[in-house]
Amino acid sequence: MSAILNTYNRKKIAFKKGKGTFLYATNGKKYLDFVQGIAVNCLGHANNYLNKAIYQQSKKLWHVSNVFTIPEQEKLAKRLKQKTFADYIFFQNSGAEATEAAIKFARRYFYSKGLTKKNRILCIKNSFHGRTLATIFASGSKKMTEGFFPKVEGFDHFKFGDHKDLENAITNKTAAIMIETIMGEGGIKVVPDYCLKGLRKLCNKKNILLILDEVQCGIGRSGKFMAYEYSGIKPDIVPIAKGIGGGFPIGAVLVNKKVASAMKPGTHGSTFGGNPLAMSAGNAVLDLMFKKGFLNEVRKKGFYFQKELKKIQNNFPHIIKEVRGKGLLIGLVLHKNQTKFINDLIDNKLLTVRAAENVVRLLPPLNVSKKEINLALKIITNVCKRYK
Ligand SMILES: *Cc1c(COP(=O)(O)O)cnc(C)c1O
Repeated sequence: MSAILNTYNRKKIAFKKGKGTFLYATNGKKYLDFVQGIAVNCLGHANNYLNKAIYQQSKKLWHVSNVFTIPEQEKLAKRLKQKTFADYIFFQNSGAEATEAAIKFARRYFYSKGLTKKNRILCIKNSFHGRTLATIFASGSKKMTEGFFPKVEGFDHFKFGDHKDLENAITNKTAAIMIETIMGEGGIKVVPDYCLKGLRKLCNKKNILLILDEVQCGIGRSGKFMAYEYSGIKPDIVPIAKGIGGGFPIGAVLVNKKVASAMKPGTHGSTFGGNPLAMSAGNAVLDLMFKKGFLNEVRKKGFYFQKELKKIQNNFPHIIKEVRGKGLLIGLVLHKNQTKFINDLIDNKLLTVRAAENVVRLLPPLNVSKKEINLALKIITNVCKRYK
């Protein structure tokens, strides 16, 4: 009997080591890993460069409090500032912490302007922003909030893709609209560029802050460093997490000057956030990701992967309903039973993970090779063939 609290439907499979795109299981089998800790290990397992960076840092200094200056943190913040809309960055340890901080920052901004009643956050119904009390109520999901009442107040919801519903849900109390640029857990649903542009305009007109949750789709996953870049807009607040540490837990919130102006010493904090060891991982990830041509390659591989997956869809339209996503954030929408399909892929040594709307998520490392993509395509084809 496991002593682990029963909150996951875990597969029986366990791993003893990983290298790049592959995982080696305790059962002796070798698996192609297109989960990568759910878009976390953006540079694959046991990346030599990341290993070295963490090892070198671990010999010098792991952790100091944020009451001191942390040069490694200053460095990572500066680099994120240079490559994004952000003027300031706050560091944490996970995605939910980052989205929750984003909510705090938005409210604090209007508070600082004397608009203390402008404090509600408008989110997509059945979205995902993490598992803290506030973020589950931000999701508007019945399933995620069941048994966890009393409700955390201050969230309103609109239907994905329903512009009328969005406009109707806005009141003069709306402080921020928070959506994922590409919905991950929600089923790899890409928000079209024209919607993001419209949203930016709407927010400007109504004095509302735009929070784009890029915890999953950010840090190169979409083929751009940040997924909002495709639309050309600038958000006000962006929580990030999954990819930034390459497997080391890091969360962060990127904010513009306007939002930053409301935050003063004592208004927010984190014990672990931004410690030197974590920051060495984040800086090493950016060393590799900011190399010339890296993101271009991600886009190219993403195009190729999607194009080939669409061929498989054409051959098996009764199994695959749709292929969608951006960069290497890809979802296969199935007609039925995604769980069986995922298990069949595992039997054929390809690891994938589910998302809502019967989606199988394909999340290879961003430095995956074409050969490895081809291997995945072959396995997916083979599994489809068995369903004939
Ligand atoms: C994973 C995820 C989170 C939560 O991150 P945790 O590190 O699990 O707390 C929040 N928002 C989005 C979009 C995510 O994909």
